Amino acid sequence: MNSIKEMIKRIRFLHRVYKILRGKIRRVKLIYPLFIKVNPPISYFVKPYQANKKITLEITYDCNIKCYNCNRLCRQAPSKTCMSAEQVERFINESNRYSIIWNEINVCGGESTLNYELFDILNLLLLYRKKHSSKTTITLYTNGFGKAAKTALKKIPSNIRISNSLKTKQVYKFHPVNIAPIDSFFYKYADFSLGCPMITICGIGLTPYGYYPCPMAGSIDRVFGFNLGKKNLSNLDESFVNVNKKLCQYCGAFRFSRLTKKEKISLSWEKALYNYNENVPVLDLY
Ligand code: SF4
Ligand code: SF4
Repeated sequence: MNSIKEMIKRIRFLHRVYKILRGKIRRVKLIYPLFIKVNPPISYFVKPYQANKKITLEITYDCNIKCYNCNRLCRQAPSKTCMSAEQVERFINESNRYSIIWNEINVCGGESTLNYELFDILNLLLLYRKKHSSKTTITLYTNGFGKAAKTALKKIPSNIRISNSLKTKQVYKFHPVNIAPIDSFFYKYADFSLGCPMITICGIGLTPYGYYPCPMAGSIDRVFGFNLGKKNLSNLDESFVNVNKKLCQYCGAFRFSRLTKKEKISLSWEKALYNYNENVPVLDLY
């Protein structure tokens, strides 16, 4: 009888040890890509993230919801700036000039349906696909909120994919984008030129101010006002190394962080948002 009790005790003890170790292994798996990998010496052996022929067009920074921790900063740094159909036409001409066949073109914002030339932009993209790149997936991202968005969505051509997040309120769980890694001791020596997995997920970002390694980088630049948008589609990967170095140090997506509903802002962002609200930076247009 005693030996059975002893055995049960041991099994319980081993099970507890296993649970603790399993938790730690999971944590290391999560932290590894966003912390250990980006710091020396491991960072010397890591290649920067690649966009793999994906691009996201940021056609407006205006949004009708303004969520906490919005990674396009629609709430933190409001703007009504939109990309024009003429700019999209220029992007298409450049794609043809450099023979770039995009795997995916995402049309995003802000709330994309608030762009005043939305249908001209979509028609240009459809024409590009028909003539030059039949396999390109074109996706329109929307929050699906409000009468205007719902009416616009009914008229979207059926050969455009719609990704509708069906938002109804301001509070959702997001990563705290306004906690700058540079404000944390743990990222003081990180190699920001690597970027983060968002580059592979979203692709290059084209904003009204030019090309960025990812769409979030464009949003950071419009607040800090470094004016780093590239105006030409050639040799982007090389020129983005320095843009990453400058912008990723402010981006919460670079850090290991948990999803949160609370708005979190670190010191660099407090200063930048204060300056933005005093005086909106003027960037050169694409
Ligand atoms: S709906 Fe999307 S773009 Fe608009 S504020 Fe929320 S997260 Fe930002
Ligand atoms: S700006 Fe942010 S999301 Fe974009 S590559 Fe840098 S860390 Fe990632």
